[in-house]
Amino acid sequence: CGIVGVTGNENAVAMLMEGLRRLEYRGYDSAGIYVNDQSGQDYLVKEKGRVADLAKAIDSKVHGSTGIAHTRWATHGQPSIANAHPQVSADGRFYLVHNGVIENYRELTETYLQDVTLASETDTEVVVQLIARFVEHDHITTLEAFRKVLYLIGDSAYGFLLMDREQPDTLYVAKNKSPLLVGVGDDFNVVCSDAIAMLKYTHDFIEMQDGEIMILTPGNVDIEDEEGNHIAREPFHLDMDA
Ligand code: GLU
Repeated sequence: CGIVGVTGNENAVAMLMEGLRRLEYRGYDSAGIYVNDQSGQDYLVKEKGRVADLAKAIDSKVHGSTGIAHTRWATHGQPSIANAHPQVSADGRFYLVHNGVIENYRELTETYLQDVTLASETDTEVVVQLIARFVEHDHITTLEAFRKVLYLIGDSAYGFLLMDREQPDTLYVAKNKSPLLVGVGDDFNVVCSDAIAMLKYTHDFIEMQDGEIMILTPGNVDIEDEEGNHIAREPFHLDMDA
């Protein structure tokens, strides 16, 4: 329902939590955050209820410079900690937040994930398990696996932020029929489902189109079309106060 991501800022936890608070007006039933500190430490915290409840569940050792966070409006599976996002692959390597609905998640589960024990009832978990499956079995990169899964889910509605523990400063971003904006900072980049979430940190945003994949690192925004061609797009300045 609400999505935020940050890469390249030591205050990622505070920025993500502030972003979630600013998205509260959209309504939701649970929330979660995943952050990585680039030296092998990472943290996943999820809570049922309000952003304030999630904030209480985050203790002082939770820190990182790259991370993703989500407020969930349940469509598949009741509001619970297990169903809250980020959803995680069985091997603990991939972390995904999602706005929207994956229409064919049951068929995809039957075709590719018969031997995987799912930890949630969400359509979202199927996507992150598929990415892990294709990386491991087909020996393809995370980007290739992400692209393959986007192809398989077809015209479903989604905004996705994906993280890979093995590339802890990278955010993979995609959307279809669901809004996502990238915000450009000084040596950091952010992404959000509504600019209001990140206006405190930047006023320079790059619009994202359906079918594109964006790869964000602290100093770079790489935009690719469906065929993997690189696209150049300048940020626009949003003259608005949060
Ligand atoms: N369909 C997903 C779920 O139920 C995402 C819901 C949302 O957009 O918050 O977990």
